[in-house]
Parts: sequence; structure tokens; C-alpha cells
Amino acid sequence: MTSHTASLSDYTLFARHVLLPDGWHQDQRISIAGGKISHITPASPEPSDLVIDVLLPGMPNLHSHAFQRGMAGLAEVKGPGADSFWTWRQVMYRFLEKLTPDDLTAIATLAYIEMLESGFTRVGEFHYLHHAPDGKPYSQPAAMSDAIIDAAISTGINLTMLPVFYAHSGFGGQAPEAAQQRFIHSTDDFGKLYEHIERRLLTTDGAVTGVAPHSLRAVTAEELQFLTSLGNGPVHIHIAEQMKEVNSCLAHYGARPVQWLLDNQPVNARWCLVHATHLDEAEISALARSQAVAGLCPVTEANLGDGLFPLTPFLEAGGRIGVGSDSNVKIDAPEELRLLEYGQRLQLQNRNVSQRHTGERCGQSLWQQSVAGGAQALGTAPGLQPGACADMVSLKISGLPDMLRSHDNIIEQLVFCHNKDLIDCVWVNGLLTVKEGRHAGREHAQRAFIKTINRVFQ
Ligand SMILES: [Zn+2]
Repeated sequence: MTSHTASLSDYTLFARHVLLPDGWHQDQRISIAGGKISHITPASPEPSDLVIDVLLPGMPNLHSHAFQRGMAGLAEVKGPGADSFWTWRQVMYRFLEKLTPDDLTAIATLAYIEMLESGFTRVGEFHYLHHAPDGKPYSQPAAMSDAIIDAAISTGINLTMLPVFYAHSGFGGQAPEAAQQRFIHSTDDFGKLYEHIERRLLTTDGAVTGVAPHSLRAVTAEELQFLTSLGNGPVHIHIAEQMKEVNSCLAHYGARPVQWLLDNQPVNARWCLVHATHLDEAEISALARSQAVAGLCPVTEANLGDGLFPLTPFLEAGGRIGVGSDSNVKIDAPEELRLLEYGQRLQLQNRNVSQRHTGERCGQSLWQQSVAGGAQALGTAPGLQPGACADMVSLKISGLPDMLRSHDNIIEQLVFCHNKDLIDCVWVNGLLTVKEGRHAGREHAQRAFIKTINRVFQ
């Protein structure tokens, strides 16, 4: 696999409507050089320009476990008792009994293609599946991380790689369960994996290396200290996703998880707290003040029955949000935003609840906030601006009535009515990866995925 640098071309496109960080602009020329945006200027189109009707910044997907795309739809059968996140996790562990690095590449390739086709242009891969099924390291200890990097490079999606450190089955440094052996590292071995990933991604366009302590139950306070000293990239952690975790944290540390983390780590803009579903009032304002991003995964959180994030008070406190496809049970960037808003409407019996100002557009505001928060969480510049990666999405507007074709309502159409069906082209680092809603590698990836799943579930 080679990096994309050799094939990056410099060109200019003309957008009739383009969503920049400060809102909509009309008739803009956007110049791209070396995969990044070099200039954005108001002007008329030149004959050589590629002309686009509606252009948006691509959406960062701040939280993915690519391999879980392979078990999408397979954990929706009632078990003998009450089903929960924890019973879903048992199905996931059984799925892992056979998965090889080649299987992971096949599954991640399809997942990343689906992300691109839905408007995600960068993935934060929270990667914890490191070793062979018997729990022993592969002869190439980074084989599974390399499988993820290969899938990202071959599909063209930008990657923020978040290798996960996982050491314990519960608070207080409890020994891992047998089914968790594929995830486990010593701090020394994890340091070597981190170096390998960092070295490889140095030559991969647009890539970023971060680090991910799995959760407060899987990592001790001392281990957390070690992990945050690795590099200065993003730090992601699962937190307060389930009440069981909150109660175990209270029992062990005498504090709720988010409260404990804020009191014991220098949580700042480098951090992403994934889920952060169960927050009390003090945690909501303290998390907002920290400038860390709350990594929300509404489709997965609904699927797992996690609960609803307190979005309204968090945004009122100035909190930063981004979205992730997490379990990849359904991959669709606009759908994450639709479900984020709808969960709040159902709970609060109100509409447009994530907006504070009269006239604010719900879909557009959520898109903008999630682009900014997602980029921060994934260690990159947000949105369409000089110096940022040329990660862009155009929309199909030809089938819409005239009044819906202007930029006024277009993101509301995308988020609430059409989801990914409205997506036309997607560019990453200035390269066209999706045309007319389809990635060129889709058919091949789908065949490889089906072959893999048939074998794994034989
Ligand atoms: Zn997760």
C-alpha cells in the first residue's frame, strides 16, 4: 500500500453554495493544493473549474470499532433474560473467536466505504482487537492495527488511529476475562505498538495518531498516567455509557466516572469522552468547561439501550460535541444527527431542542457543531478553511423542488428527510472517493465482506 501523496492533484472548484465555518457563502472558488485547501475566494467560475451546487465540510466520525460492522443485525434476538449492553457484549466476544487480520481488513474496508458514502471523511478508529484468538500476539504484533491502516488507505478515508490500552475486567485492576485476552497489553508492549503506528502514519496523508485508554474499568489510575504521556495527540476514553459502570466507579473511587476523571486528569481540548451518557448537573458544567469533546454515538447508544445524553444543558453550558458510528450497526452520518435530535425531542416533548436562538436551523447547526467538535477530537483543523484537509461533500439537489434547493433548508433535508441518499460526491484530501453516491471499490469490498462473514459464522 502506498500513500496518496503521488496522486494528489492541485485544482480549483467553484461552489454556488458552500458551508464555511461562519455559515453559508455563495459563489466561492476553492483552491486545493497538496490535499489541503489553500484559498477560498468569492469569484465567478473559471472555465477549468469543477462546478458544484452545494458543498459541505465532510463529517468526522469520531468513534468507530470497524470490526463490529461484521456483526451488525446479529444481536437483535431476545435472550433468556433482560437484554442489555452486557448481553450484546457476549455476542461480540463470540464473534471475535475466529477473526483474523485479513478478515478485519475485509470488514473495515466495507465499513469505511459505507462511511465515505454517507458523508464521513475521517474515522477515529478506537482499536482494541490486537492479538490472535488464543490471546497470543501475532508474529507481527501490530498485524491487526496494520489491517485497519490498510483498509483506511485503500478506501481513501482519513484516519485518526486510536490504539486502545485494555488491561482489566473491572475497577481495581481486576484480571481480564478469557474472552478479553485479544485486547490485553503490558504498558511496555503497548508503547511499542504505539511507536509502530506513529511511525507508519507519519507517511500516510492526513493521518493522526492518538491514544485510547479503553475505560476507567479497564485501566488503572497509574496506567492512565502512562497513556496520556504518549505523544500529544488526541486521548479518547469510553465513559459513563452504562449505569452499571457509574455504580461500580462510585463503589471503587467514591466518585462518578466523569467527575473522577475531571478531578484526576488534566482533561482539556485534547480529550474526547465517548458517550458520557450519564452525567449529573455538576458533571455537565465541568465537562463543558474542560473544552473536551463529548463523543456521542446516537445510533449505537439507541441500539444498546444506553440512555440519552443531556444535550440541551450541555450545549447551554458551552459544551462541545461530535458524533461517531461506534458499533457500525448502521453507518450514516446524517442519521446520527437525526437520532441525536429525535432522542431529545421524545424525552423533552419539544422540537428543535438543540437550538437556542430563534431562526437557527437544526440540521445545519448540528452539522456545524459536529464538524468542529469531531475535528478537534480527531486532532485536525475543522471544516472548510485554508490549511484544512480538503474533505468535502456535495449534495444531489436536482430532484428537489426549487424552494428546497437553496442552502436555506438543504441540511435539514439531508438530516431529517433523505440521510445519505442526498449525498453525491465525497472528496478526502482533495481526492474524489465517492461519485453519484457510490465508492468505486464498493462491489469488490462487498464480495470480500460476504466471503469473510460466511467463513466466520460457518
Ligand atoms: Zn465504543
